[in-house]
Amino acid sequence: MNENNCCPNCGSERFITEPNQYDVINFENGNFNVIRSESTDDQYEVFCEECNEEIDFNGSLDKGQIILKING
Ligand SMILES: [Zn+2]
Repeated sequence: MNENNCCPNCGSERFITEPNQYDVINFENGNFNVIRSESTDDQYEVFCEECNEEIDFNGSLDKGQIILKING
């Protein structure tokens, strides 16, 4: 298990997207991988499947690890 690929809040390795679909995705090798998708959009709003914290999509791509979208 790579902690960089987990939610910093709860440690979940699975994430979901909103608002249109609930695509299931994970984060590996510095990128988001869609496990199950019905969407053609390449821009996601990503939330942790377990604790529903919003993930910073572009920040996570920049850092190569899961970053929460939290101010302060
Ligand atoms: Zn979480």
